Amino acid sequence: MNSIEYVCVMCGQKEKEGIFIQGGFICDNCEKEIVQTEVQDEKYRYFIQQLKQLWLKNA
Ligand SMILES: [Zn+2]
Repeated sequence: MNSIEYVCVMCGQKEKEGIFIQGGFICDNCEKEIVQTEVQDEKYRYFIQQLKQLWLKNA
């Protein structure tokens, strides 16, 4: 059983299930939210901003 928890870069919660993008962990909940968020949504911009920070960190 895998009991390792990662801190999600989007919500800051510790989760076991999720994906890694550019070395950052995004939990299952946030991943689903990103997919469902409309581009013109205020939240979408926040997500993109968080992702950009990851890209900059790993550049
Ligand atoms: Zn999350």
